[in-house]
Amino acid sequence: MAKRQFKAESKRLLELMINSIYTHKEIFLRELISNASDAIDKIYYRALTDENISFNKDDYYIKITPDKESRTLTISDTGIGMTKEELEKNLGVIAKSGSLAFKKENELKDGHDIIGQFGVGFYSAFMVADVVTVITKSIDSDEAFKWESKGADGYTIKAVEKDTVGTDIILKIKDNTEDENYDEFVDEYRLQNIIKKYSDFIRYPIKMDIAERKLKEQPETPAAEDNKDEQQDKQPEYEYVVEEKTINSMVPIWRKNKNELTDEDYHNFYAEKHYGFDKPIKHIHISVDGAVRYNAILFIPETIPFDYYTKEYEKGLELYSSGVLIMEKCSDLLPDYFSFVKGMVDSEDLSLNISREMLQHDRQLKLIAKNIKNKIKKELQTIMKDDREKYEEFFKSFGRQLKFGVYNEFGRHKEDLQDLVMFYSSTEKKLVSLDEYIERMPEEQKYIYYATGESNERIEKSPQTELVADKGFEILYFTEDIDEFAIKVLRTYKDKEFKSVTAGDLGIEQEQDKDDKAKEEYKELFEQMNSILSDKVKEVRASKRLKTHPVCFSTDGEVTIEMEKILNQMPD
Ligand code: ADP
Ligand code: MG
Repeated sequence: MAKRQFKAESKRLLELMINSIYTHKEIFLRELISNASDAIDKIYYRALTDENISFNKDDYYIKITPDKESRTLTISDTGIGMTKEELEKNLGVIAKSGSLAFKKENELKDGHDIIGQFGVGFYSAFMVADVVTVITKSIDSDEAFKWESKGADGYTIKAVEKDTVGTDIILKIKDNTEDENYDEFVDEYRLQNIIKKYSDFIRYPIKMDIAERKLKEQPETPAAEDNKDEQQDKQPEYEYVVEEKTINSMVPIWRKNKNELTDEDYHNFYAEKHYGFDKPIKHIHISVDGAVRYNAILFIPETIPFDYYTKEYEKGLELYSSGVLIMEKCSDLLPDYFSFVKGMVDSEDLSLNISREMLQHDRQLKLIAKNIKNKIKKELQTIMKDDREKYEEFFKSFGRQLKFGVYNEFGRHKEDLQDLVMFYSSTEKKLVSLDEYIERMPEEQKYIYYATGESNERIEKSPQTELVADKGFEILYFTEDIDEFAIKVLRTYKDKEFKSVTAGDLGIEQEQDKDDKAKEEYKELFEQMNSILSDKVKEVRASKRLKTHPVCFSTDGEVTIEMEKILNQMPD
């Protein structure tokens, strides 16, 4: 049987595409600039094999020209241009990507820089424009053509005059409606922001004429002394000076060689990207060329963002594909316990969905995320080892998050985090890691001891710690709610069990006789106390653990007194 071809209602399809693919209207500029960059790239690749073409970098740029009066926005490039046939094919057939074809035809293995692939980005112009006009001259043709369309109705093509090779795309920006305002798309400041946001790392200059208010130069008066009064009366005069400026930074810092970058370069990037107002304590620059290729620059901030421990805080890294911003906060790239990390990831290996705002598959992303997680962990361990003071600063801000990380998801991440948490030590009088604790343990010590309380001072004075402290054993002080919960999830560290100093069995050998003697001698007293306190405590008995204090509480089961307090505070 002969196969029949699907037909598509192209008008409907176009409308659907224009109005339902993208979540932000401003994306149109990213798409048109990406196309312009691709067009220049094509000349660049051509020049590699065609000796008749020379590629002089200064001749290649993209220019953005807003005009409030005529309410137009023009995106011009000095790229490869299009022939009449190419106009028909590339802009007349929806979902036809000339750029994808170019990559295939030229077998560009290293042509990752070419961005286009879906053949729909161009039409996003209709989100903001009533009429789109394309004036283009191909490098392979002496004639220039004008393609024009009002959207779903179709398009016209006719021959026009154009001197230079390249393409101008002229958008007639829509009039404002009751719900929508389009003025921003002819506003030079707003346009600069959009370019910075999405297209900062396009490899070619994106230029714009910027009018700046400047102080008018005053001619020097030779006899300044004599007419002092006159001078003071004079108001400073301003004038507008128009200058062509390059808006984008072009070379992304993450593609630069690490050896050529200074701490200051990274800090500037951190500030420029508005990751924070602080000076990050560490940057991590990653370039991976393995199963998945990516570059990343990550920062460990110094201070807690004001909303960090609230629901408002959104974790995530910026995600770029070949230098073009895809997602502002890709949360899948960071585990919750490292949610304080700021930065960006750029990869050419992502399979994007058609809007290029999301990813198609998360396999590559998962690989990248895992890789990043390990790098952060390693970096934190290094700081802990090599720059303790810095680590303590960091831990003051984000230690709580790490401890929550141990506890959350039933301890699924405890292996990753147990070496990063620290607690105050009774003997060292400072924060110590579990590993350091274990290292110091005398052979006869069976457990890792901890005591809970409101503050280090309080715990220090509490009778419960006496016996263990007297033995010379180190005790970890838990002063935060999360501490004991985290440790309960850990259960052990390097095969050593955690033990609360209030536990019944402390694993410490005692003189048996003394205990028995006390039991006999004060038998009546204990009977009395037990009957009086019978509804308050389970039992009153002679204690083995007290040295200088007359009395203390202890617990029988798994739950310590402090934990019980917290659990009682929780809503049912
Ligand atoms: P994509 O970029 O994904 O291929 P677009 O809809 O953005 O899809 O563009 C369709 C095609 O039109 C491109 O592949 C390219 O061949 C052509 N094109 C668009 N803009 C330009 C331009 N400024 N210069 C040359 N060709 C262009
Ligand atoms: Mg495109």
